[in-house]
Amino acid sequence: MSSSIPSKMKAWIYNEYGGVEVLKFASDVAVPEVKEDQVLIKVVAAALNPVDFKRRLGKFKTIDSPPPTVPGYDVAGVVVKVGSQVKGLKEGDEAASLPLAIETAYEGLERAGFSTGKSILVLGGAGGVGTHVIQLAKQVFGASKIAATASTGKLEFLKSLGVDLAIDYTKVKFEDLPEKFDVVYDAVGEGDRAVKAVKEGSSVVYIAGGATPPGFFFVLTSNGEILKKLIPFLESGKVKPVLDPEGLFPFKKVNEAFAYLETNRATGKVVIFSI
Ligand code: NDP
Repeated sequence: MSSSIPSKMKAWIYNEYGGVEVLKFASDVAVPEVKEDQVLIKVVAAALNPVDFKRRLGKFKTIDSPPPTVPGYDVAGVVVKVGSQVKGLKEGDEAASLPLAIETAYEGLERAGFSTGKSILVLGGAGGVGTHVIQLAKQVFGASKIAATASTGKLEFLKSLGVDLAIDYTKVKFEDLPEKFDVVYDAVGEGDRAVKAVKEGSSVVYIAGGATPPGFFFVLTSNGEILKKLIPFLESGKVKPVLDPEGLFPFKKVNEAFAYLETNRATGKVVIFSI
């Protein structure tokens, strides 16, 4: 298969930090060389994450490699070349999608010590991460009660994912509710408010901004082990990817897909197809 790998590929690329307008479509981008611990994937579909536009805006420029950059983390496709040190993958293997959001969801629950019989409040329940936190809390960790926040039109959707108490953040301040939770998972960046909703001595997981003690912030560190643990739940359909019905974009419209994600209103994942 290696002999049929082209030297150039289509890609969306940016040469400078900025808004959606810096993204340019190009059909002559060099196909990357595979290092010994890497594989080359022929991408069939991809999903966007907020980190993709935060990088493009230059928010991580002190730690990021400088442009030109082809954005994106989550892909589905076929392995076409394997580095010499790679174990467990071979040419022709089909590679998985949706890792970043589901792995973030799982790692946060694990770090918070979430376990059977505990209750949780998910802030930002309708987003890419929140939809997975809800499903994992229920199906994998055995939550006793799940509450989550979203705007008015998404409350029924939250219930369909397994939420017992859907909180309309346009009408109710979650921190003023008398009920407190064993864990609060903050995928919005609610700071001080989030710690007011947790029981004494319990955890708040922050992924979208600074943490207020006793809460903690973390950045996803997984190397794929979490996905392996979750395969039975994904294959049985107990945990499902949630694709935003308005968030499916052909490859030619990647800039529109970014603009949509950047509205901060996406429900589940924004996906690029027909690559
Ligand atoms: P999304 O773009 O999928 O989130 C969009 C959702 O957020 C919408 O459904 C929206 O619902 C909801 N939302 C927006 N504002 C509020 C609010 N005030 N209260 C409740 N819900 C709200 O983002 P992701 O879920 O993919 O990511 C969430 C955050 O986590 C991002 O900032 C991202 O960068 C960060 N992140 C951090 C990681 C880490 O390792 N630390 C890893 C992954 C993500 P509605 O329309 O109803 O408002």
